[in-house]
This record gives sequence, structure tokens and C-alpha cells, in this order.
Amino acid sequence: MALGPALLSMASAAQVRSGSPGNVVISSANGLRACQRAMEVLRQGGDTLDAVIAGVNINEEDPEDNSVGYGGLPNEDGVVELDASVMHGPTRRAGSVAALRNIKYPSRVARLVMERSDHIMLVGEGALRFAKAHGFQEENLLTDKSRIAWLVWKANLRDSEGHSNWSDGLDAPVSKPSAQLRQMFPEVDESLLAWAVEVATRPPTGTITCLALNAKGEMSGVTTTSGLAWKIPGRVGDSPIIGAGLYVDQEVGAAGSTGRGEENIRTVGAHTIVENMRHGMPPKEACLDVLKRISRNYDQDLTRLARFDIVFYALRKDGAYASASLWSGRRQREAVSTRKFAVNDGGESRLEDCAFLYERK
Ligand code: ASP
Repeated sequence: MALGPALLSMASAAQVRSGSPGNVVISSANGLRACQRAMEVLRQGGDTLDAVIAGVNINEEDPEDNSVGYGGLPNEDGVVELDASVMHGPTRRAGSVAALRNIKYPSRVARLVMERSDHIMLVGEGALRFAKAHGFQEENLLTDKSRIAWLVWKANLRDSEGHSNWSDGLDAPVSKPSAQLRQMFPEVDESLLAWAVEVATRPPTGTITCLALNAKGEMSGVTTTSGLAWKIPGRVGDSPIIGAGLYVDQEVGAAGSTGRGEENIRTVGAHTIVENMRHGMPPKEACLDVLKRISRNYDQDLTRLARFDIVFYALRKDGAYASASLWSGRRQREAVSTRKFAVNDGGESRLEDCAFLYERK
């Protein structure tokens, strides 16, 4: 005899309950505080989506996180454009926004798209109007720090003669580009200028993805970002693409991503990871499989692959979790720093090492 839908859903809820290990939150490495806050919400019995959004709001409002929300590095016009997506496991719903300007909390707007519209994704002007209709205030998201980095990037765009429209004119006294920068920004201290040169010449990746499981076996996720620095206005990365930057199926698990979104969109990484777990792969192998697909898109050409990195995060419904990156770490000047991700399973948040496909020498 076939089970009716009500019995089936009771059966699957019981399976989820019996397999649940308690509350677990994971995120990208910039999410130690986000995981902590999300765990506090879960401990108080809060919803998993409330938890992860409360967590990433910390990064969205932090001017020192230059990859998310307020203070994010801008597009090539000097305008901060934000992407975000949310998925709520219990109701199987999703929402997202892309190329949203002037609103500090794109994750909250993505949630409103999910809850207060009959759509899943809003972009650009339409997303902004929707946010304002729901009471969000417009504000300038470009901090002085990010503005200086953008100006340094502009000054570094030179023709084959070494000329830049955005630095000293041809008639200026001859000086080295580094001295020109010093003259252009006399009020900026050395360390800020050095950082601006670093991000202008080697645009960093960032983003925060945060995934949560509660003791009832419910799961949700969020990914929020200012996207790639210096992007073409209107460029949309993987973060707001349901299935690429985020995917949740609470009968299986959740996955998210940070890093070069273009590679993730081509492999629909988060959905592929969840499907891999559905078919029995542990979280680490599920992430590594997608990284191998990305590598295959470049015929395993390590020289071209070395130009970017991408990191996946996976949390299974039984609380098993992992993160894996294409490269073992990031080169920062001489040293390679190991890639990490953040975890909170009830105590203090901690960083754990990511697995990786290739070792950065
Ligand atoms: N994944 C983001 C994007 O491609 C960027 C990042 O993680 O830094 O927009």
C-alpha cells in the first residue's frame, strides 16, 4: 500500500529529527562573528533563516569587510553594487537580489522578495524600488577607504606609454608611479595606500555565505556580497543565483560558495554539491567534485587555474560539514596562507582548514 502525502511527510520529518545532531552553523572565514550570532538565534529557538541573516548582517554593516555590503569595493564607476540570495529549507522558498545599489542589507531585501512578492529574483533599479517600497533607506555605501582603493585602481589603468587619465598630467614633473600616488593622496597613511595598491592590482574576492541547521533538522542559507571589485556595472556573480552561490534542500543539506563567481555559474556549484550529497557523497567529496568540474573546464591547465580561486561550503542534514577550495591558500606577498572556514556547533566559533584540490606552492 502506498503511503499518503501526510504520512510521507511525517516519515521524513521523523527521519530528519532522528538524524539531527543539534545546532550547527558554518560560513566563509570572514564569518566568525556571523556564526556566533546565528548560533545565539538558534539557541533561543529562532528560525534558521532569521539566524543566518542576523549573522551576515554583521558583515553587511561592517565598513572593514570590503567584500560585503557597506564598505564593499565598488564597480568600475565607483558605485557599490550588491548581490544576495536566501533559501529557507522548511518552506522550500528562495529569494534574491542582484546589482542592488544604495541599500546596506541586500540579504534582508532578498528575504522580502521571497516573502512579499510572487517572484524569486529582482535586479538593479527594480530591486532598489522594491526595497524602498518596503521602507529601506538609501545610503551611500562607498566608504572613504573603498573610494581611495577605486581611485588607485583608476590611476593604475595605463596605456602602453604608461599614461593614465586618472593620475598626474603629462606636464607634471616626472616621478615614479608610486611617488605619484603619494602626491595624489598626501592625507592617506602608508598602510592604507599599500592596501589600496594591493586590491587595485590584485582584486580580492570575499563574500559571506552562511548555512545553518537546527536541532529540529531545519536548514537555511544566505550568501551576500559586493561581488568582484571593479566589475562592469550590472555584472551579476554567482551569489544571488539560486543553485550556484547557494542551495538548500533540508532533506539533504545546504551549500554555498565564495570566490570567482563566473566559474561557479558554469558548474551550478551549490546545487551540484547538494545533489552529490543526495547520492551519497560526503560533504568534502561533494565540494571537491565541483572543483574538479571547474578544473576540467580549463583542461586542468594549472597556469590559467592559478589566476583565480573559489571555495565551496557544505552542511549535510546530519550535521556533517566541510569546505573545499580550488587552491590550498592565498599568496600574500611571500607566504601562502591556508584557506579556512568558520564553524559554530554550540560553543565559540572557530576556524577550520578547508580541503583543497591543488596545493599553492
Ligand atoms: N562570488 C562573488 C562573485 O563572483 C565574489 C566573491 O566571492 O568574492 O560575485
